[in-house]
Amino acid sequence: MRVRLLEATENPEELICRGARNDYMEEWVADQSFEDAMAGVEGEDVEAQKANFLAKLLKRGHYGPFEHPSATFAIEGVSRSCMAQLTRHRHASFDVQSMRYVAFDEVDPADVEDGEMVVTPPSATDPDWIGRNQEGGTVDDETVEEREAVFQKSVKRSVEDYQELLDLGMPPEDARFVLPIGTEVNMVMSMNARMLMHVADLRAAADSQWEIRNMTEEVLDLAKEWCPITFDYYEQNMKNRKNRLAP
Ligand SMILES: Cc1cc2nc3c(=O)[nH]c(=O)nc-3n(C[C@H](O)[C@H](O)[C@H](O)COP(=O)(O)OP(=O)(O)OC[C@H]3O[C@@H](n4cnc5c(N)ncnc54)[C@H](O)[C@@H]3O)c2cc1C
Repeated sequence: MRVRLLEATENPEELICRGARNDYMEEWVADQSFEDAMAGVEGEDVEAQKANFLAKLLKRGHYGPFEHPSATFAIEGVSRSCMAQLTRHRHASFDVQSMRYVAFDEVDPADVEDGEMVVTPPSATDPDWIGRNQEGGTVDDETVEEREAVFQKSVKRSVEDYQELLDLGMPPEDARFVLPIGTEVNMVMSMNARMLMHVADLRAAADSQWEIRNMTEEVLDLAKEWCPITFDYYEQNMKNRKNRLAP
C-alpha cells in the first residue's frame, strides 16, 4: 500500500482561524489581514496566536471551522475489503479504479501466489498475529504454513479462472465476480480536516482492521505535514477517544 497527498488547501490553518474569527468580529473578515483578524488572541506572535486559537477550538469542540480546508490523497494497492470500509464515510469523496476498464489480463497467476494483485493478510503468514476477533491466540508454524498454502492456492485459482473467463469473451465487469475481496484497488480520496479526524477516530482505533488502520496512520502522517498544529493536537489530546468529532 502507498498513500500520497495529491492536493490540499494552501494555508489550511490560517483558513480555519479566519473562518472562526469571523464569528467573533464586527468587521468583515475578507477586509482584514491575518494579523488583524487574530488581534486579541493570546500569544506573543501570530504563530503562537494561531496555535493557541486552534487548540482552543478543538478543546471546546468547535469543529465547524475545520471543515473549510480539505485534502486529496492517492491510495495505491488496498484491498476491495478496505475500500468497502472506507467508502462508508459519507462526507468524503472518492474515485475508485474501475474493474470494467482495468482488466487484470496481464497478471501472471504465479505472481499472485507471491503477493501480486491480491493483498495478503498478516494472519496468513505470521503465526504470532492476533486479529481483533480471533478467538484463539497465536498458532504454530505448521498451521500458519497451511494457511498460507490454502490462501495462495485460492487466490491463484481465482485469477486463473478470471483470465479464462476473459479469454472466453466474458466482459471484465462480469468476470470479476470470481475475484477475491482482497483484490487490490487504487483510489483517490478527498475530505476536509474535520472529517479526517472523524475517520481517524474510527479507523485508527485498535478495534479497526489492520489494513484500514495502517492506511489511516499513513493519511494522518501526511495530514500532520499539511496541517501540523491541528493534527499534532489531535494526536496528543484526541486520538483514540472514539467519536469525539461526531457526538
Ligand atoms: C470497528 C468497526 C466495525 C464496523 N462494522 C460494521 C459492520 O459489521 N457492518 C456495517 O454495516 N458497518 C460496520 N461499520 C461501519 C459503521 O457502521 C459506519 O457506517 C462507518 O464507520 C461510517 O461512519 P459514521 O457512521 O460515523 O458515518 P460517516 O459517514 O463517517 O459520517 C460522519 C458523521 O455524520 C453523521 N451522519 C452522517 N450521515 C448521517 C445520517 N444519515 N444520519 C444521521 N447522522 C449522520 C454521524 O454523526 C456520523 O458519525 C464498522 C465500523 C467500524 C469502525
